[in-house]
Amino acid sequence: MQRTTKIVATLGPASSDQHTIDKLVHAGMDVVRLNFSHGTPDDHRKRIEVLQQSMRTHGRTVGVMADLQGPKIRVGKFAGSKIMLKPGQRFILDAECTLGDSERVGLDYPELIEDVSPGDTLLLDDGRVVMDVERIEETEIYCVVRHGNELSNNKGINKQGGGLSAPALTAKDIEDIKVAAELQVDYVAVSFPKSGGDLRLARKLLHKAGSSALVVAKIERCEAIDNLEDILHACDGVMVARGDLAVEVGDAAVPALQKKIIRMAREHNKFAITATQMMESMIHSPVPTRAEVSDVANAVLDGTDAVMLSAETAAGDYPVETVNAMARICQEAEKSSDPAALDRHFLDRVFTRIDQSVAMAALFTAHHLKVKAIAALTQSGSTALWISRLDCGVPIYALTPDIRTRYKVSVYRGVYPLMTRYAGHDRDELLFEAEEELIRSGAVEVGDLIVLTFGEPIGQAGGTNTLKLVRVGEHRPV
Ligand code: PGA
Ligand code: MN
Repeated sequence: MQRTTKIVATLGPASSDQHTIDKLVHAGMDVVRLNFSHGTPDDHRKRIEVLQQSMRTHGRTVGVMADLQGPKIRVGKFAGSKIMLKPGQRFILDAECTLGDSERVGLDYPELIEDVSPGDTLLLDDGRVVMDVERIEETEIYCVVRHGNELSNNKGINKQGGGLSAPALTAKDIEDIKVAAELQVDYVAVSFPKSGGDLRLARKLLHKAGSSALVVAKIERCEAIDNLEDILHACDGVMVARGDLAVEVGDAAVPALQKKIIRMAREHNKFAITATQMMESMIHSPVPTRAEVSDVANAVLDGTDAVMLSAETAAGDYPVETVNAMARICQEAEKSSDPAALDRHFLDRVFTRIDQSVAMAALFTAHHLKVKAIAALTQSGSTALWISRLDCGVPIYALTPDIRTRYKVSVYRGVYPLMTRYAGHDRDELLFEAEEELIRSGAVEVGDLIVLTFGEPIGQAGGTNTLKLVRVGEHRPV
């Protein structure tokens, strides 16, 4: 069986040259993430060009995700680039401070003053430093260090329990959305959305810039958990952004939230990406820890569409080894997934649309007849998405004439993009072409039973309305 869980890998200084990207594509990277918190538009453009060369070499389809920085609040710089903080000492976050020292440091978000009150807990550098707010005076937040550690330039600040008023899309993000549109990326991830409105705004700005990129909501603040239903209606997919989420809700709450977010995403016909520290130790080690192996495998068992790598591939010593290890762990974990549970989950599904009903019928039929493959002839990829929301243990091929759709389906679990070249109106010829493509790609052989879904009349816009069971090679047009 081929791997069904997809791998998203962040490109960065350790993975921007042709040689490394070639190897990452070969190792099975399905989507690249361009982190807009770092690098210039030109850096991102160059990486995409290198990736396109690799895709041609390997004949593979790799999606591109732009991840917006969002309102990540950070401390300013220090005169000596870092300081050491000790438990019990006082420290001041000062909006007016330009260069920090052992007593105070600047803030890139002066509004933090309005958002905090005495008694609040602030977590810096993903919780490596913890401070309690003592009092606030004009531009200064007086804190007492609870957990000390080194603190260096531009480290992030989170408020425990959430409640920061910063809007999800900053001025930089709004500019970056135009860059993402120009680079024709396939997905745009919105950082720190609070509600569906943030995603709707991002989508509106993308449309205005001429992009139909899928919108990914990063679930990483408390408000997003409260508004999950609303967010799921507004986005195309979610990211369980465990880095910031753990700091906001407390690390121990994250595993259960991960399961809940993934389950709800699937129920809403959205995809889910599980992110952050999945293979953290592989930044400096050629092998993962036992805990990391379990973490990746458990995300697969939770039903995630994709697992994501951040610093491991962007800045680590072993980017290719990490993707190889992750692929191996996913594939092994998938063996223990249970398609038989499908009948049970099916009962909870509600669907009212014709195209969606055909997708559900295809899924159910494929599962019970144990067919070799499902082939969804699709314009937008949505039929393939619907079919993939429950695990039937049968590979789903999205056959599409739309090049952009081919990239968009790369993140869906168990869905593999294929190109159809047919542009005519004849049904038999279309189905024949589809079979030929499935055979060419090695997906099926003559004699295999497959399920096909498509929309009639052929060549006209409109949704999927037909399901057909086909013995490959049986009906050749004369
Ligand atoms: P980030 O998002 O890496 O952009 O912070 C992911 C996370 O918070 O887990
Ligand atoms: Mn984050």
